[in-house]
Amino acid sequence: MSDRPSLPGRPTSDDPAVGAAYLDELRAALPDLALLTTRDETNAFRYDETEYTYPGWPLAVAFPTTTADVATIVRRAAAHGVPIVPRGAGSGLSGGATAVEGALTLVTTKMDRILEIDTANLAAVVQPGVINADLGRAAAEHGLFYAPDPASFEICTIGGNLAENSGGLRCVKYGVTRDAVLGLEVVLADGSVIRTGGRTVKDVAGYDLTHLFVGSEGTLGIITEATLRLRPQPAEKLTLLAFFATIAAAGDAVARITKAGIVPVTLELMDGFTIRAVDDAAHLGLDREAGAMLMIESDSGGAAARDELDRAEVACDGAGATSLVRAKDATEADWLREARRAAHSSLERAGVARMDDVGVPRSRVPEMLEAIERISAAHDLPVGVFGHAGDGNLHPTFVVERDDPTAEGRINTARAAIYEAAIALGGTITGEHGTGIAKRDYLEAQLGPRAVEVMRSVKAALDPQGILNPGKVL
Ligand SMILES: Cc1cc2nc3c(=O)[nH]c(=O)nc-3n(C[C@H](O)[C@H](O)[C@H](O)COP(=O)(O)OP(=O)(O)OC[C@H]3O[C@@H](n4cnc5c(N)ncnc54)[C@H](O)[C@@H]3O)c2cc1C
Repeated sequence: MSDRPSLPGRPTSDDPAVGAAYLDELRAALPDLALLTTRDETNAFRYDETEYTYPGWPLAVAFPTTTADVATIVRRAAAHGVPIVPRGAGSGLSGGATAVEGALTLVTTKMDRILEIDTANLAAVVQPGVINADLGRAAAEHGLFYAPDPASFEICTIGGNLAENSGGLRCVKYGVTRDAVLGLEVVLADGSVIRTGGRTVKDVAGYDLTHLFVGSEGTLGIITEATLRLRPQPAEKLTLLAFFATIAAAGDAVARITKAGIVPVTLELMDGFTIRAVDDAAHLGLDREAGAMLMIESDSGGAAARDELDRAEVACDGAGATSLVRAKDATEADWLREARRAAHSSLERAGVARMDDVGVPRSRVPEMLEAIERISAAHDLPVGVFGHAGDGNLHPTFVVERDDPTAEGRINTARAAIYEAAIALGGTITGEHGTGIAKRDYLEAQLGPRAVEVMRSVKAALDPQGILNPGKVL
C-alpha cells in the first residue's frame, strides 16, 4: 500500500496491476480511443486554473468521442474500481478537474459537435466539449442567442459550464447556466445512460434530475449531451462606465441601481488596483486615479436602453460618481467588455493571482467590499477586486510574489476570513466557481452538517463506489 492520504470516497485499490488490466481492457474494447499514459503526456492534464493545488498523477487521460465511448470507459472503470475525473477545458477555478492519483482523467474536448440548432423550439443540442463562444456564434447565425457567458467563454466547455453551473457577465438579466438548460444525457457511475428533461418548456415529471446534475462538478454523472435554451438575439448593447473615488461608493451605486429596479444586462465592478492592471495590459485610457469603476450595459434597445442607462447614471451620481462615460460605439464597447474579461489575466501579469469567488445579497455588496479591504490589509495581501457586482458576486484576487514562501499560508487565512464574512452577510462561499477541492472544507460552515449529510446520501445513491471525481465537493 502507498502512504498517500486516501481522499474521502475514493476506492482503495492502489495496485498498479488493476490499472494496467483496466487499460488493456479499454484498448481492446475501444481500439480508436485516444489515450495518453506517459507522465510527459499526462502532465498537461493534471491542473486546472486554480493556484496552489497539488494534484496526483492520473493513470491515463482518455479522449472519448461518443456517449457509447464514455459509457464503456465508466462501466469498465466501475468493474475495476478505478476512479474517473471528468474534464472539459481545465479552466476551472476550484480544482474540480485536477487529477486524482491513479484515476482516469476523461477529457471531453473531442466531443465538440453542435448537433442541432432547433429554431422552432429555441433550443440547441450539443456535445459537452463544445466551447461556449462557439455555441454563441452558431446560435447568432440563426438570429438566436445563448445567454450564459463566463468571462472564460472563448476557452471553456459547455460540459464544464453545466458541471459548475457557471455564471457570467449577462447573469443579472438572463440568469446562470442552470436557467438555460432544458435537458441532459448523463452517463452514471455504473456506465448506464439516462436522459433528463427535453425540448419542452414545461416538464414536471418526477424529481428534477436535470438540475441535480447541473453544478454537481462531475461527482454524480458525466454529461454527454445537453439540450440548451436559446433566446431571440437582443438589441445591440449601450455601455456606460462610471468611475468612483472609492470602492465603497461603487458598492453603494450597485445597491442603488438594484433598489431602483433597474435590470441592466451587465453590471460589472473593477477596483482601482484592477483598473490599473487592465489598463497596463490593454491601454484603454481608463481613469487610473479612480478607486473603482462600474460597467453598466443595456440590451433593451433604442429609447428603452437609453432610459435604462439614464436611470443608472442618476443612481451612480447619487453614490458620488466622479465621472460617467458612455462608449462611443459598439467597437469601443467591445474593447471595454474584453478588458473586463481580461481582469484576471491582467492581474496575473503582476505575480501569482489567486482568484476567489464569494456571493452576497446585492444590498450587502458595500459591506462585503469593506470586509475584503479590511481582511486583505490585516494579512498584508495586495488584492484586486472585480466581479459580477449586479449579482452580488465578487472575485477578490490576491496578487503575490511568485516565490514568496509565506504567500499560500497568508492567503488561506485571509480566504477563510472572507468566507466567514460572506456567510455572516447571508451570502455564499462560492457564487459560480464551485466547491471543487478549494472550498470543500468550508461547505459545512455555510450549509450546516445536516444539509451536507443529505448531499452525501445523494452521492452514495448515485455513485456507491465513489468512483466519480472522488474527493471533490464533499
Ligand atoms: C480567466 C477566467 C475567467 C473565468 N470567468 C468565469 C466567469 O465569469 N464565470 C464562471 O462561472 N466561471 C468563470 N471561470 C471559471 C471556469 O472557466 C468555469 O468554471 C467553466 O465553466 C469551466 O469549464 P471547463 O470546460 O474549463 O471545465 P473544467 O475546468 O475542465 O471542469 C470543471 C468541472 O466540471 C467537471 N466537468 C467537466 N466536464 C464535465 C462533464 N461533461 N460532465 C460532468 N462533469 C464535467 C469537472 O470534473 C470539474 O469538476 C473563469 C476561469 C478563468 C480562467
